[in-house]
Amino acid sequence: MQNNRIRECCLIKALFLRNNFQLSLEETPQPVISKPGDIIVRVTASSICGSDIHFITGEVPLEPDFIIGHEGVGVVEEVGSGVEFFKPGDRVVIPYMVSCGYCSECKAGRAYACLADLQFGVGKARGDLPGTQAEFVRIPFADSSVVPIPDSVSDREALFVGDILSTGYFGVTNGNIQPGDEVAVFGAGPVGLCAVACAKLFSPSKIILVDLEDYRLEAGMRLGATHTINARSTRAGSEIRRLTGGTGVQVSIEASGAEAALDDCLACTAKGGILSAIGMTPFSVKFAMGKMFYKNLTMISGYTTLNEMRRLVKLIECKQLDLTSLITHEVPFSSILEGYRIFQNRLDDCIKVMVVPD
Ligand SMILES: [Zn+2]
Ligand SMILES: [Zn+2]
Repeated sequence: MQNNRIRECCLIKALFLRNNFQLSLEETPQPVISKPGDIIVRVTASSICGSDIHFITGEVPLEPDFIIGHEGVGVVEEVGSGVEFFKPGDRVVIPYMVSCGYCSECKAGRAYACLADLQFGVGKARGDLPGTQAEFVRIPFADSSVVPIPDSVSDREALFVGDILSTGYFGVTNGNIQPGDEVAVFGAGPVGLCAVACAKLFSPSKIILVDLEDYRLEAGMRLGATHTINARSTRAGSEIRRLTGGTGVQVSIEASGAEAALDDCLACTAKGGILSAIGMTPFSVKFAMGKMFYKNLTMISGYTTLNEMRRLVKLIECKQLDLTSLITHEVPFSSILEGYRIFQNRLDDCIKVMVVPD
């Protein structure tokens, strides 16, 4: 009886991915410290990621029955006995995955390849770590995984640091943009828009943004794009060559995941340029390797290393980066399914949905 009562008072709400890719808002026991390096974080804001949509449509097939979500910020509620750098009350950015800090990969600076292989909200595919679309979340290896949020930075400002902003920044730094360079960004979804804002930090002379939706292109202009191309009506590759006097851009960033956009990147990148791919493309695509060869292009790809979260928080703090305009919708946790509906169907010019406690 006693035990039951304790369990009852410690139920939290969380969003589960169940059989047949169904989302289900349920009550579940509150997570507890299970290892000395754990912290328990009360989630004060989370968001729905494009990847979550891939999971619920089955495009990325995952074994069901886990709490979804891998973007968020929150307040530390409880720390394990081995946690050195965080205490209850601290506000932290939750990264999409954790790094143990001591395996050979973490020690070599490749925390994203951590051998513990623990990612939030993807179930058994990567360590079965319950996700952030919940009222509370357990974070293992907290000292080497979360980063603090200063008082002057709001949840809204810090929300994207642990995933899409890190991804946009990664795509931009991989492109090695030099001041005065011309840059093209394909895809004005949340990641592409983050890439636009990050590209601006490196003073390019042009940021040409390509998408199929005018409202997203307009959002990109507000974040620093100098030119936009709606690829429904204009051939992006040739228009970019025209805008750059025939040479093409020094750096192209593929943030849409569309096969056609990769092809446009090959067409519009100047000789000797860099193609930085951060979009989730289909597993196998047709790729004109010959174009890459004859133009001496370098291609670099991958998901974010998360190595620059502290730098991103600092850039937000000193007002060099502000991605709050991406948050077009805010829903209370109890309405998270409505948030999914809006985000998935891009209703009401949705870019990003922030989920806050009820
Ligand atoms: Zn994500
Ligand atoms: Zn590790």
